[in-house]
Amino acid sequence: MADDTVKRAGVIGLGAMGFGMASSLARAGFEVSGYDPAPAAQERASDAGIAPLASPEDVFATAEIIVLSLPAAAHVEAAIAAAQGAGLLAVGAAPKVIIDTSTSEAEVSRKLAAELADAGHGFLDAPVSGGPSGAAAGQLSVMLGGDEAWAGRAMPALEAMAAKILHVGPSGAGNVAKLVNNMLAASHMITTLEALRLAEAAGVGAEDALRVINSATGRSAISEIHYPNWVLPRSFDSGFSTGLMRKDVRLARELAERSGCAMPVADLVAELWAEENSGLKDADDFMHMGDPAVDRLSKKEKM
Ligand code: NAD
Repeated sequence: MADDTVKRAGVIGLGAMGFGMASSLARAGFEVSGYDPAPAAQERASDAGIAPLASPEDVFATAEIIVLSLPAAAHVEAAIAAAQGAGLLAVGAAPKVIIDTSTSEAEVSRKLAAELADAGHGFLDAPVSGGPSGAAAGQLSVMLGGDEAWAGRAMPALEAMAAKILHVGPSGAGNVAKLVNNMLAASHMITTLEALRLAEAAGVGAEDALRVINSATGRSAISEIHYPNWVLPRSFDSGFSTGLMRKDVRLARELAERSGCAMPVADLVAELWAEENSGLKDADDFMHMGDPAVDRLSKKEKM
């Protein structure tokens, strides 16, 4: 490992993504601790050799590099506030590098990065793509926002978790890039579903249509990876929930509103993903949305 000062890593949020990232850090030689309020997540971490600690503060007290993998910006703020309350992010405290891999909000990241920089600590927004399998294999794509020097300090940990590290720009830039990407993925689920349902209605099976799409101009990661792996085999277990996808669509639209950017397609996509139209609960895997055997689109026409 390049830098002796960053060999103790802590992961807060040991869910579908955080657990895989913690395992990748451990494989790369980091001493890894973690915290999750769910007992099952703590137990799974312990079984994998990741030291489960009793609170986020304990993780900050134990590690120099802290990875957050939390549901939303409010959880990120709460974890930082807990560490601040314990004096672990004060001026003069041992410097911490915080890598926030949650799909969070640019304004929150900018505020936290500025506050923490004043106290001598680094905060990087580092949302990820690649799903639980990419997290477990250390093969994520990271969209990084923040200061170059702190990014350098975080690099050994980032390299343990990711195959691609894309430094997008200053604080918040990673969050913006991630929301723009996921808005497209949410849209591609709907447009691919529409296309396959049309193919089937007109006499061409979904598998045959998908084979053509994936050799032609209509393809996307959704058609090339998600449909063959999780939709057509009907396993619907990609590890990303419909609730998290709805969060991403909502955040992208809020960003568009603040940025004065019209997004008519995104507005319709958000309506189609809503529970009253799609029939999907937040806990359902988001792959269910693409099921060509279920009509999740025509309710919208009656609205
Ligand atoms: P998840 O629900 O599987 O895991 C989140 C974990 O956070 C849970 O184990 C939960 O118990 C824990 N948690 C909740 N409140 C907490 C708190 N206050 N302190 C510590 N832990 C807390 O979700 P996930 O799929 O792992 O997603 C995590 C983040 O990564 C989200 O922001 C999501 O949008 C993003 N993301 C997910 C995927 C994916 O494919 N699953 C891909 C890219 C990005």
